[in-house]
Amino acid sequence: MLIGRQAIVVGAGIGGLAAALSLAQRGASVTVLEQAPALAEAGAGIQISPNGTAVLEALGLGAALGGIGQPLAALRMRDFARGRDILRMNVATAKYRHPWLLAHRADLLAALESAARAAGVRIETGAVVAGLVGGGRTGVSLEDGREFRAGVVIAADGARSRLRPLIDPAPDPAFRRQVAWRALLPAAPGAAPEVQLIVGPGRHLVRYPLRGGRLVNFVAVLERPDWAAETWQQQDDPAHLQAAFARFPEEITAELARLETAHLWGLFRRPAARRWVQGRVALLGDAAHATLPFLAQGAVMALEDAWVLGESLAGSDGVEAGLALYEARRRARCRRIVAAADRNALAYHLALPGLRQAAHAGLRLGERLRPGLALSQFDWLYRHDVTRS
Ligand SMILES: Cc1cc2nc3c(=O)[nH]c(=O)nc-3n(C[C@H](O)[C@H](O)[C@H](O)COP(=O)(O)OP(=O)(O)OC[C@H]3O[C@@H](n4cnc5c(N)ncnc54)[C@H](O)[C@@H]3O)c2cc1C
Repeated sequence: MLIGRQAIVVGAGIGGLAAALSLAQRGASVTVLEQAPALAEAGAGIQISPNGTAVLEALGLGAALGGIGQPLAALRMRDFARGRDILRMNVATAKYRHPWLLAHRADLLAALESAARAAGVRIETGAVVAGLVGGGRTGVSLEDGREFRAGVVIAADGARSRLRPLIDPAPDPAFRRQVAWRALLPAAPGAAPEVQLIVGPGRHLVRYPLRGGRLVNFVAVLERPDWAAETWQQQDDPAHLQAAFARFPEEITAELARLETAHLWGLFRRPAARRWVQGRVALLGDAAHATLPFLAQGAVMALEDAWVLGESLAGSDGVEAGLALYEARRRARCRRIVAAADRNALAYHLALPGLRQAAHAGLRLGERLRPGLALSQFDWLYRHDVTRS
């Protein structure tokens, strides 16, 4: 166990809070340093697949899952032109051991924060970490000049991590010539808890209900050469989103027409870190392996990391050995997930009509011959449970 050990976690995102909880539950005294002046999530949807809820349950959040999100019933893949289903993957009958949740990020973060605080985690907001400090114990320096020391530092400071270049120098991220709009729309409650993935040439749109249907969540991705910053702070005129998806099914364009705001995010490519650990410092979540959002696994990977980190440190003699074990247990799986998301980026946006129709016909046929095939191809992902392996 980690009783008496001190840990610093940089970043109070999903990865950082889950890591803090995982370490604190094993006895560590944990301080989370978050740059934001307060823990506040602008708000949007997030899918937590069963490999992620397995971790939430193991962290003691099983009873809270009902307040975090609603179980997903089905994943529908549709073609933009006629709107008809290419595939309907029945998640309810796939009988996963853990639920697949459609959650509001703010609800997930609030549950993690409250569990972390209850486990004794200290959270310092307005703490902008500037670098690492060394010595017999490790630590971090803040922009305001303060220093925090501990036996281990976990850098969960996101895709634009300030600590990652100190551990794994990497080339500058490259703009993918793709942007994502994110928007929420108030709705009448009671909508079927299903994810719709509607694909078209050079673009796709994901739509699902949140909070029992009182909100509809949209993520709309478009290939375009115009650069966009990698931040949700950036508001965009919804007319741009509406124009890009004007040829999508009518019920979707009608919903998009009601949007008053949309946020724009530029998609950037970052190779996964070649090295996750240096001495007593380790990367976690997007800081280690940011992914394109085409498989809905970024936050789920961060949850898996958090569990494995706690288990590896608690089960090893010494911090260095524990962190090395953590990296060894996570590296190959995260690379595989990131590669699968990259493949989806290509498959969703097929531009040549003949190629698109052939690909969709192949998917339909496969599902007709072997119902459940499309989903079962991802058993390696969704049925994996890091808390039991
Ligand atoms: C459009 C879109 C849709 C997505 N949908 C899904 C989905 O459905 N399912 C899923 O699993 N994933 C999804 N993701 C990915 C997911 O959002 C991320 O992978 C996940 O949030 C990463 O969590 P994290 O804790 O590693 O990093 P972050 O959430 O980025 O958190 C990092 C934290 O560190 C703080 N920080 C940064 N620098 C410093 C510093 N110097 N000092 C102190 N604090 C600092 C930040 O303020 C932030 O709070 C999606 C992503 C996008 C773009």
